[in-house]
Parts: sequence; C-alpha cells; structure tokens
Amino acid sequence: MRYRGRFAPSPTGPLHFGSLVAALGSYLDARTHGGEWLVRIEDVDMPRTVRGAADGILRTLEALGFEWDGEVVAQSRRLDLYHGALVHLQLEGDVYPCSCTRSEIAAATQRIAVDGGLLYPGTCRGGLADGMAARAWRLRVPDHELSFVDRIQGEVRQNLERDVGDFVLLRADGQYAYQLAVVVDDALQGVNAVVRGVDLLDSTARQLWLQQRLGVPSPSYAHLPVVVNAAGEKLSKQTKAAAVDAAGGSEVLAAALRFLGHPVPPEVGALPVADFWRWAVSAWSIERVPAVRGIFPGGGAL
Ligand code: GLU
Repeated sequence: MRYRGRFAPSPTGPLHFGSLVAALGSYLDARTHGGEWLVRIEDVDMPRTVRGAADGILRTLEALGFEWDGEVVAQSRRLDLYHGALVHLQLEGDVYPCSCTRSEIAAATQRIAVDGGLLYPGTCRGGLADGMAARAWRLRVPDHELSFVDRIQGEVRQNLERDVGDFVLLRADGQYAYQLAVVVDDALQGVNAVVRGVDLLDSTARQLWLQQRLGVPSPSYAHLPVVVNAAGEKLSKQTKAAAVDAAGGSEVLAAALRFLGHPVPPEVGALPVADFWRWAVSAWSIERVPAVRGIFPGGGAL
C-alpha cells in the first residue's frame, strides 16, 4: 500500500517553530517513502480558529518549498462527514447523550485525566436522569489496555477507562471534537502514516479506539519531540512561540532538521530551498530522531 502522510495544523496563529518541526518530519518521512503528503486545516474548533491564519500557514509552507499532494481540505467544510460518523456510533450504541455541566462533573469527581482535565465519572452512562436534556455526546471507553508501537517513542499503553474516561465527540456548544474529526479525516483521506508532535501521544489510544468502533484501519504513528522552553513547557501561542519567518529559507529548515537529531552542515543552510530538500531527503532517517518528549533548543531533553 502506498505511503500517505499528512500535516494537520490548527489555524490558531502563524506557523511557529514547533509546527514547522512537525511539518518537516512528516514531509521528509513521506518523501523518503516515495509517498504522498497531504495538508489538512484542522479548524473544527471554530471558536479557537483565527481568521486568515490558515492562509498564512499555507503561504509560509509554500515559501519554504513544501509541496503537498492534492487539495488542501478544511475540517469546517466536512461537518456532514463527522455527523455521519456520529450517527453510525449512535446506531451501534457506542455513544450516549450526557447532560452534565462542568461544575456537575467537578462536584462528582476529583480524578484527573491524562490531559489534565477532570476524568468523567460516567454519570450519564446508564441513561439521562429524568427531565435532563443532552448537552454533549460521549463515547464509551473500554476498561482494558490499548497498546501500539510508536515508530519513535516505542511501545505505548493506555487504559482509557482509567486514564481518560468516556470522552466527548459532540460538544455542548455544537462543535465536533478534534478526536472524532481527526479519525474520520485520516480514514477517509486514506492516511496510513501519522507523524506529529508528541503532545498528541496521549490522544492516540482514543483515536485507536474510535477507529475500532468505526471499523476503519489504524495508521502507523510516529511522535516527534516537541520544542519546550527552559521551564519544560510546550511552545505555543500561550508561551509566545515566535512565528517562523519564511525569509529565513533553508536556515530555518536546517534548524528544524537539527532539532530532530540530524547533523546539518552550515553550508546546507545556505542553499536555495529546493536544494535543501534534495539534501534533506537523502539525509533523513527516523532512527536519528530522539525518543524523548521535549527538547529545549540548546539545552537538554525531557
Ligand atoms: N491539529 C493538531 C495540532 O495542530 C494536529 C493533529 C494531528 O496531527 O493529529 O496540534
């Protein structure tokens, strides 16, 4: 089967160095496998989406010489597909309506899930209490370990019941959750190799479970280390990650490739971007990528 990878940025701001690392890692992995590389705009979370950010990200990628295959798709135009998947799960009895508000959940549990939020205590699992209306739809999760072998991070195990709880697929504000959208899109687009930041490692078991319930194949996964600041926090808009300046050309690309454990001679950073990519495709080896979660540039690994 032909390798098909993807880069799936959320348009919440300009492309920053952390997303460039994910773009470069997934791109080189696709190209060295002679595969295809898709770009998908993950704007399913509309309240977080910043107008114009997707265009800015695409222009930066283009200026840096990334060449994607096929049309760029945007999740905001695929809501009917997520609806179809949810209806399938409803018919199978895999999801249930939930009336709980955040404060009701907080009053019912103190258990913390892997993502730092409250672990849903299962209040509505057996049905809505009399007179209560559905706010959200949750997926029932199993009480056994799911495991997979990540191409970089090695074996990963997670018990969804213990570590995550029944999670939301359709939110109280009417938005589909990232977990549902990403699984539907990867499956419908035929993506069979996911290379992305390690901040999504803890989401992968949820995605594997959804793939099982929807009866679609699971791609392979490779989770790249992410850029952290000196305090060990992931660089994001909140931590003021700087936007990538495409005028930096190969120098910026070389910095991202060095971050992923590849020695890049200084003269490669001075090449035109097309020549950088020719060099990088011949140099790329996923075995060189450090099997760690976070790297502070110029400092240590976490
Ligand atoms: N949209 C996600 C992000 O920007 C990436 C999702 C994925 O690669 O699965 O963090």
